[in-house]
Amino acid sequence: MALPVSHSAIALGLNRSRDPAVILAVVTLALAPDFDFLLVWGFGLPIQSFHRTFSHSLLVQAAAALVWWRVRPMRLQGLGPFLFFLILASHSTYDVLCTADSADHGVMAFWPVTLERFGWPVFVPIYRIFGESPFSWQGFLSFTALECFLAWPFWRLSRSLGNVLSDSE
Ligand SMILES: [Zn+2]
Repeated sequence: MALPVSHSAIALGLNRSRDPAVILAVVTLALAPDFDFLLVWGFGLPIQSFHRTFSHSLLVQAAAALVWWRVRPMRLQGLGPFLFFLILASHSTYDVLCTADSADHGVMAFWPVTLERFGWPVFVPIYRIFGESPFSWQGFLSFTALECFLAWPFWRLSRSLGNVLSDSE
């Protein structure tokens, strides 16, 4: 149910760098777990089997952060491996909080250790005010409008979390 505006706002709140290349990388990373839609839409694979599975796993995201730690280009030094992981994990966490039916389209947060899907519908009632699903143009636009409204509070909250984390480093 969560769409790009919220994921991006949360990730930008966690980021400290003002380097445009890093900001672009942060937004791309915030949306990266949903690139699994390319498998679904591009190859016609079943959405139930591929969306919110490996790409949303905290374990895979931690492994990706370790890889990033070793291969990070000089141009993106402002995007450290811990922030890299936090941004990916924020995507999965927000998806969990926006899931109405965990069995149907919850997040496989610990794939491949367990295929259990997680979902706690904390934000679902807010989205439901604006429609049932984002999978139509009207739904997509309604939900995006809602997320634009929520972007600042989400950015502010994640900014505060980022401050706490950077103070503890
Ligand atoms: Zn997602």
